[in-house]
Amino acid sequence: MEKVYNPYEDLLTIIDSVAGMLGYEESDYSVIRYPERELKVSVPVEMDDGTIKVFEGYRVHYSTLRGPAKGGIRYHQDVNAEEVKALAGWMAFKCAVVNVPYGGGKGGVKVDPTKLSQKEINRLTRRYTAMILPIIGPEIDIPAPDVGTNADVMAVIMDTYSMFKGHSVPGVVTGKPIQLGGSLGRTEATGRGVMIATREILKKLHMEPKGTPTVIQGMGNVGSQTARLLNELGLKIIAVSDVSTGIYKEDGLNIPEILDFLSVRGTLLKDYKGEGIKFISNKELLELETVVLIPAALENQINEANANDIKAKIIVEAANGPVAVSADPILKDRGILVVPDILANSGGVVVSYFEWVQNIQSLAWEVENVNAELEKVMVKAFEEVYAKSLEKNTTLRNSAYMVALERIVNAKKVRGIFP
Ligand code: NAD
Repeated sequence: MEKVYNPYEDLLTIIDSVAGMLGYEESDYSVIRYPERELKVSVPVEMDDGTIKVFEGYRVHYSTLRGPAKGGIRYHQDVNAEEVKALAGWMAFKCAVVNVPYGGGKGGVKVDPTKLSQKEINRLTRRYTAMILPIIGPEIDIPAPDVGTNADVMAVIMDTYSMFKGHSVPGVVTGKPIQLGGSLGRTEATGRGVMIATREILKKLHMEPKGTPTVIQGMGNVGSQTARLLNELGLKIIAVSDVSTGIYKEDGLNIPEILDFLSVRGTLLKDYKGEGIKFISNKELLELETVVLIPAALENQINEANANDIKAKIIVEAANGPVAVSADPILKDRGILVVPDILANSGGVVVSYFEWVQNIQSLAWEVENVNAELEKVMVKAFEEVYAKSLEKNTTLRNSAYMVALERIVNAKKVRGIFP
């Protein structure tokens, strides 16, 4: 029987492995192998036709050693406890690798949001917020958008939380609409971070961005902003995909036209009629002849089953966990470099941090300021991870986890164990 993919086991495997490489004893880091707090909630929703449906919801604080928990909320039919735990853990490592003063958290509801009306989504969001209310707050745990959620969902969470508190609390969520204290530059921040990571790895390999063949899986928030910024940088994007299909054009896709086409809510690539494009499956897309491959959809897209068929030279993980840990050694042996998710897609959480800082200080930064600060944080983190990989002669994933684990372990050491 095929082994069921468990992302939390992947997380533990990598934590144990890098802890060993750093020479830690188990008691130095055992605390970091367990989520601090897990909440499972039932979310009853009155549907438009008057029936009641009950959805499963979760919120996990993986670590609050370095600051409040921080992480997105996912609405997807595959959400489950193990996945939320893993995603929460990844957030703790992500916040540590870019050195923002947060721990890690994550939440989700097991629901296919495409099957719900806007009003049903609003009711679901309000009830879910009420159910997790005791463990969220600007100093406790600050949710943000993830797969299937967006700025509008954050606005509803902020409003619901504020109603319970009796006053507006913008700092309870990030990724909000600008009118509610959202930060300029937040929507594109994850994509901008992926662009910076891609640009920096090409620089280390002495490769010019201009004309570099690039493939992007997923055209949601992250994939589309990444496509726009890499296209502006001059990379040649030869294929992109969404859940409906992949599209391919050897001499480069017309990215502005595709983004314009996808800007209408609910539009899918299968209906795009660009000149000279070929429709391909997501499987074919991952296996294309290319220099850069950017998985920006879901986890476990590259695993033991297809790692030998990947032809890219560099994989930049825009999604969380798109390369299963079991695929890492295969890719390494084949000379394929992987820029890991906790570094490559951390732009979102960095600008979320800037948003929270602005909310707490009642300030609104200019977008140039946001982008310049993001650039500084991302380049510094990239350099630290790259230097560690040379020092320890290991993959960028291992070195990113080492940089992060050292920071978390050091925070635990100075705080001590209560009581
Ligand atoms: P999204 O919901 O906006 O977009 C997801 C995209 O993936 C869509 O284009 C969808 O059609 C496509 N997709 C879904 N299932 C697919 C499949 N089976 N095959 C191919 N494509 C598929 O989500 P997003 O916010 O862009 O997030 C994408 C990934 O990036 C997730 O792993 C998320 O955790 C991660 N991430 C997001 C942020 C953020 O700021 N939004 C930050 C860090 C990491």
